[in-house]
Amino acid sequence: MTSFLSYKTFIEEGDLVIAYMSRENMTPLIMDSKLTYNNKFGTFRHSDMIGKEYGTKMPSHNGRGFMYLLHPTPELWTLVVPHRTQILYMADISFITTYLDLKPGSIILESGTGSGSFSHSLARTIAPNGHLYTFEYHEERAKAARQDFEKHGLSDIITIECRDAYKDGFGITDLVHAVFLDLPAPWDAIASAKAAFKQNRIGKICCFSPCIEQVQRACVSLNKHGFVEIKMFECLIRNQEVHTIPIYTVKDAVSKIKVQQDKKRKRNEEESSDSKAAKSAKIKQDPPNLYVSKTPTEAKGHTSYLTFATFLPVLDDEVDRVN
Ligand code: SAM
Repeated sequence: MTSFLSYKTFIEEGDLVIAYMSRENMTPLIMDSKLTYNNKFGTFRHSDMIGKEYGTKMPSHNGRGFMYLLHPTPELWTLVVPHRTQILYMADISFITTYLDLKPGSIILESGTGSGSFSHSLARTIAPNGHLYTFEYHEERAKAARQDFEKHGLSDIITIECRDAYKDGFGITDLVHAVFLDLPAPWDAIASAKAAFKQNRIGKICCFSPCIEQVQRACVSLNKHGFVEIKMFECLIRNQEVHTIPIYTVKDAVSKIKVQQDKKRKRNEEESSDSKAAKSAKIKQDPPNLYVSKTPTEAKGHTSYLTFATFLPVLDDEVDRVN
């Protein structure tokens, strides 16, 4: 079995392989020596792939093209997971993971599980000693996600429960370090999420919402339940573009400035453009280029709004004062 928590070298019967044709064209394959995979690049027999190393460039049986046989990772899974719901992508996954302070050993509560895209990344981040409790109220989705976690070697680290987060709460108390809510009405789950936090330490919560009205209601609820440092982020999508800039030596730069000054002076004096001074200062050859990355000022779009807040523990002397 292929695990998302470790790497193996050779592909075996029953393993998951991510067949990579291009960045936009990948597909998950479960190795079954009786099957053949066909695409526009040709015919690929699973029996030819079994025994090969992960990472192999695999020519098609009929010689029409090739594909790469990649080891599954949460990043690749997010690109090929069968969509049973909308899913989280890496732009948000990486930001949320960092901002929730997740690390090996973290205990996390997630709801809803959806297609399990984020759950796969969470599991890898918190392995080997952490745990993810994830809640999904749609029975079929919960079942499919559970099967994925089992097949991907994650069932020791993920507990999935089919449960309505609004009506039944999470049924967890004093246990988790962080909470992530990707629900249509996160405010209805915040009281129960608050009880799930380890009560004697600081914790972090994040609500993922596509519209600003949901953010407003989540903020009101977080505030009402005593969460602090409530902040909202919007992840904007911008392409990186490669540009070239010439690198001048000091001598060439001085020379270039001289040429420019010369031209200016000549324009002022209305002299002809082919004077001797300009010719002698001219740079003999084009300078080498430096490649730099620039972002266009226009954003292409956004993913969603991410509302973060901090859970503060109730200190012993505060309890004494309240009592
Ligand atoms: N973050 C997930 C991922 O990356 O794959 C996608 C989550 S999906 C957008 C939202 C999920 O929340 C859906 O699967 C939906 O069934 C579930 N959901 C909605 N209301 C719920 C509730 N009251 N309790 C538990 N799950 C709920």
